[in-house]
Amino acid sequence: MSVLEKMTSKDAIALEDRYGAHNYHPLPVVLSKGEGVFVWDVEGKRYYDFLSAYSAVNQGHCHPKIVGAMTQQAQTLTLTSRAFYNDMLGKYEKYVTETFGFDKLLPMNTGAEAVETALKICRKWAYEEKGIEENEAKIIVCENNFHGRTTTIISFSNDPVARKNFGPYTQGFIKIEYDSLKALEDTLKENDDIAGFLVEPIQGEAGVYVPSEGYLTKAKALCDKYNVLFIADEVQTGIARTGKMLAVDHENVKPDILILGKALSGGAYPVSAVLADDHIMGVIRPGNHGSTFGGNPVAAAVGMAALKVVKDEKLAENAMRLGELFRKELTNFIPECELVTKVRGKGLLNAILINDTEDSSTAWDICMALKENGLLAKPTHGNIIRFAPPLVMNEEQLMECVSIIISTLKDFRK
Ligand SMILES: *Cc1c(COP(=O)(O)O)cnc(C)c1O
Repeated sequence: MSVLEKMTSKDAIALEDRYGAHNYHPLPVVLSKGEGVFVWDVEGKRYYDFLSAYSAVNQGHCHPKIVGAMTQQAQTLTLTSRAFYNDMLGKYEKYVTETFGFDKLLPMNTGAEAVETALKICRKWAYEEKGIEENEAKIIVCENNFHGRTTTIISFSNDPVARKNFGPYTQGFIKIEYDSLKALEDTLKENDDIAGFLVEPIQGEAGVYVPSEGYLTKAKALCDKYNVLFIADEVQTGIARTGKMLAVDHENVKPDILILGKALSGGAYPVSAVLADDHIMGVIRPGNHGSTFGGNPVAAAVGMAALKVVKDEKLAENAMRLGELFRKELTNFIPECELVTKVRGKGLLNAILINDTEDSSTAWDICMALKENGLLAKPTHGNIIRFAPPLVMNEEQLMECVSIIISTLKDFRK
């Protein structure tokens, strides 16, 4: 079969199965087109996208302003490497740092790379500014964290599937309970070689676990007290997803180091960034860190366009309003539904907890039924289903999705 011939879903799945590494377990749907809140499979069936590529597509699929900026830049200059300057990077850095209120930005490509970069900056700061003895710096992380897939990052994961047989692991991390200020304070008290605290403002992959109100503010205050950098991984929660530009904005916290990715490009291109003020970012000097593609002109053009869409279309406000509506509608439905025990989230980052064991196939089967009914979502951690549509959704579409979800749950296994 020629690759140019139109293929069926079955063909496409068979090809990936035969020639691709099996590092994912996708829902059996083969997408070939996207626009706004919708995606279409190769057979032409339309779906509401309720994953948004793990919140990378906050601005909606193929946003014309983002695609426009990308194609224009792609026809002009794509890559110079950082061996030379390019005329887009500085403009982008100015725009993003002013948007988020930081002195400096370090450009990378993927979320995991940005997390790695933040960890390196934090360690270097600890030795050169805080005065921790060489190789002694520790970074506090949280249980059930998700920060990506590199060797160092999986070293401090507690997901056995992500970790097992990838050792030896990187040293220098202390894992504490998430949403526990006591655990944080005890750890800060007991160790004087702590460089930073890496935290997700809401744990997305863990199942949209929202910490108690005030947790982030108090955690930041503890970090300040012990001269430890508060590092916010906003790769999934950032860029309007939770109803504010950043999830930390709900508590008016300014992290010492901010990590962005995913929707920083609106899903058009891999773009990630680490932001910090000069007294921290200043530890990075020529040769200390780099990336061939990081900060390339296409990424810069796409990143600026993607952030501009978020501001112009007031996506944070929309996410806040629709998120409240979504949780209200589903919360009202829960008492009459034995399948769902809870709905939780912030803005348009939400999840429902399925009334079954973590190793059951119930959540997966519900997602299969949702797919049949024209809505794509994916289970996380076995019995949790995350609902994260593009933020360009309108109220009428959201209400249609609510009714798809409710009728699917009502009819499930009947
Ligand atoms: C997705 C994600 C990452 C990793 O991003 P990649 O682009 O997949 O490397 C890091 N942190 C969080 C919180 C994420 O959700």
